[in-house]
Amino acid sequence: MALDTADATDQLLGRGDIPPVHEVNAAGTSPFLLTSDHYGRVLPRALGDLGVAEAELTRHIAWDIGIAGVADRLAEMLDAHLIAQHYSRLVIDCNRPPAAVSSIPVMSEATGVPRNEAISEGERGARRREIFEPYHHRIDAAIDRRLHAKQPTVLVSLHSFTPVYAGVARPWHIGALYNRDTVLPQLLLKHLRAEGDLVVGDNEPYAVSDLTDYTIPVHGEARGLINTGIEIRQDLIADQSGQQQWAERLARIFAEIEVELRAERLLD
Ligand SMILES: [Zn+2]
Repeated sequence: MALDTADATDQLLGRGDIPPVHEVNAAGTSPFLLTSDHYGRVLPRALGDLGVAEAELTRHIAWDIGIAGVADRLAEMLDAHLIAQHYSRLVIDCNRPPAAVSSIPVMSEATGVPRNEAISEGERGARRREIFEPYHHRIDAAIDRRLHAKQPTVLVSLHSFTPVYAGVARPWHIGALYNRDTVLPQLLLKHLRAEGDLVVGDNEPYAVSDLTDYTIPVHGEARGLINTGIEIRQDLIADQSGQQQWAERLARIFAEIEVELRAERLLD
């Protein structure tokens, strides 16, 4: 059997496919740089429905339900740069190292993804080259530009989580997610707890790790940026009024956090 090697002629996106990267406020003045790895659930035309039922393709396994509406609004309210990714994480997960088995999942929760089974290295490479890399290169370039311009930069990675996973209900409204950062997650937790009406997850429902995450380890930690992940429960932001309320709440909290970071001279 011939070895199946990566072939740069494999092409995934074509006529009728949108670019992978979505941006708001590229010239935003806020120190907060927002990212959204699971913003969209678009499928490249060449992949059809991935062999997955339509009802499954609108569930959390395909994207972070509600986060797009929060992210766009929050970027506007803060005058912050948002970099987000349009394609479904069932095509390639932009918050997984490309070498991870879950990068191009053949199973998500209890749903099989037949189109992802036994794909060639060429196809795997095309997904990485045409979706994963443009997104992460854009974040890299934005950070480069900001650091060169001496613009303070704090990375905030926005996600949402399903209220019930594998039959288990999750109590948290929102969680701060982190690994090595000791500054921003603790500030954020303090502010979220002070709201008084929230069940706040401290590294819940997930913790960030080098094996299961990409954006925070690579763009936050490796570049020495203050950073945090945020996970909002999806039933709270399923409609536009919920998205607006949560964007307003987070905009208010991040404005307060910015004042504290400046007072501590952490944005110099
Ligand atoms: Zn996510």
